[in-house]
Amino acid sequence: MQGCSDAPLSKRLEDKVALITGGASGIGEATARLFLRHGAKVVIADIQDNLGHSLCQNLNSGNNISYVHCDVTNDNDVQIAVKAAVSRHGKLDILFSNAGIGGNSDSSIIALDPADLKRVFEVNVFGAFYAAKHAAEIMIPRKIGSIVFTSSAVSVTHPGSPHPYTASKYAVVGLMKNLCVELGKHGIRVNCISPYAVATPLLTRGMGMEKEMVEELFAEAGNLKGVVLKEEDLAEAALFLASDESKYVSGVNLVVDGGYSVNNTASA
Ligand code: NAD
Repeated sequence: MQGCSDAPLSKRLEDKVALITGGASGIGEATARLFLRHGAKVVIADIQDNLGHSLCQNLNSGNNISYVHCDVTNDNDVQIAVKAAVSRHGKLDILFSNAGIGGNSDSSIIALDPADLKRVFEVNVFGAFYAAKHAAEIMIPRKIGSIVFTSSAVSVTHPGSPHPYTASKYAVVGLMKNLCVELGKHGIRVNCISPYAVATPLLTRGMGMEKEMVEELFAEAGNLKGVVLKEEDLAEAALFLASDESKYVSGVNLVVDGGYSVNNTASA
């Protein structure tokens, strides 16, 4: 019998080198674990040094996973992180530009704190620009690569998040689409994943609630009633976009929201 189901289970990122920003926690951490299981050499870049180092130690995979301190708001730090991946493993195939913050939870434009707006854009938007810029420098000469950004389901639904966060995630989708065209000329694919609510520290801290309570809340509020969206589900989406299985997929904002946006799409 022929068909996909007969194919042996394979390591989908064998011999690939991946850099993951925001890889010490939440979606980035789950993705680092999954990429490693699929044979990638993984470098995680973050500002939470203790978390990053202990994740690498706990995974006990020798040189296959390592940590580099990198504040994505700092262009120089990002360049050093990209160089670290190349010097440790000889190349860079995958950039998962995922570091992000939620910012202030006050949603009123009147109460807008310019410092909060600036910080959210520095991490979520400038960080994505810097990561793409330095990854592209490495990928263009090899004419191959996959860049995956983390945007958010707020980029396609009725915005319920604070204005800076929503605007920053729209910006990431805009950057992704522009880069899809520019870097496509060099054989490089560029896509986004856009998660619905996942009970990572970003969300639990912002809401001041325990992980289990947040999961329960959104399992009920979501479109797929009772189903909890986990970090690992986003890692699977990132894996698809990073791997050669998506070799002709570029310019896509892969919304992982259980259909929530179908019910809640902002009208044009
Ligand atoms: P998280 O807080 O668990 O992880 C974010 C990581 O980014 C942390 O490890 C943090 O240290 C790192 N980071 C923050 N600022 C940084 C900086 N300046 N430089 C380098 N690293 C930095 O949260 P998460 O939910 O896993 O967030 C990952 C991405 O997912 C973010 O871009 C977030 O906006 C996006 N997202 C999350 C949700 C959700 O519900 N959790 C929904 C939509 C989108």
